[in-house]
Amino acid sequence: RTVYVNGTYLPEEEAKVSVFDRGFLFADGVYEVTSVLDGKLIDFHGHAQRLQRSLGELGMTSPVTMDELLDIHRELVTRNDLSEGMIYLQITRGAPADRDFVFPGPDTPPTLVLFTQAKGLIDSPAAEKGISVISIDDIRWGRRDIKTVQLLYPSMGKMMAKEAGADDAWMVAEGFVTEGTSNNAYIVKDGKIVTRHLGNEILHGITRAAVLKFASEAQMEVEERPFTIEEAKQADEAFVTSASTFVTAVVAIDGVSLGDGTPGPVARRLRDIYIEASRKAAI
Ligand code: PMP
Repeated sequence: RTVYVNGTYLPEEEAKVSVFDRGFLFADGVYEVTSVLDGKLIDFHGHAQRLQRSLGELGMTSPVTMDELLDIHRELVTRNDLSEGMIYLQITRGAPADRDFVFPGPDTPPTLVLFTQAKGLIDSPAAEKGISVISIDDIRWGRRDIKTVQLLYPSMGKMMAKEAGADDAWMVAEGFVTEGTSNNAYIVKDGKIVTRHLGNEILHGITRAAVLKFASEAQMEVEERPFTIEEAKQADEAFVTSASTFVTAVVAIDGVSLGDGTPGPVARRLRDIYIEASRKAAI
């Protein structure tokens, strides 16, 4: 693989970042994952916009413009001959001379890293059969709207799910579902789609924004409000959204099957609409 580090394209074996990098020492960094279909980027501008917001909230700046970022994404697609998969981007607060809790000054440039991940996104067992989730406590920090690289708890959540024989975990704070470990969470009851409202408690998914727009355009009813795990277990359907999984049905929650235990019609329809529309709009 050819990866990008601070202005240079090079083989992954040769790519290096300092041991003093604040991403490594403090998880002081932000990231984005943009999916690629037919060698084109899905919703690049949405991801670029959220990246700038994340950076702004943390008092960081991008070392390149968003136009340059688009060029880097495209160059990596070309150099890696990527037709389907993802591009991972990370910006950290750079590598000062020593470890220090205080943020470094302007003489420390941010670290920018991008790499590709080839992966079949359209056809996957999860897309076909749906996934099962368990519920776990949401013990993350209070600024989940910033897409930081502090992913230890979501990673632990995935492991808890795996150990329980499930695919993923939905996190619950103060009695209400916030989101999945790496996706936004939805339930469907009597045709109505319910998903948590935006706020500091969840990541503002780029896929979420697109899917809710497509749902409204297709005259599907959407309600943005908190819901409990109990309500979710009694729903007709459930699903998750993220850049890399699009719309994926959830067929069981804490061992309770939803409907007949297969992906429901709303989730399947939204997945089809999302893939078709995103493919058309890809750049
Ligand atoms: N919530 C969390 C916690 C996530 O990590 C992600 C994916 N990065 C999402 C939601 C979905 O966001 P997006 O649709 O922009 O990929």
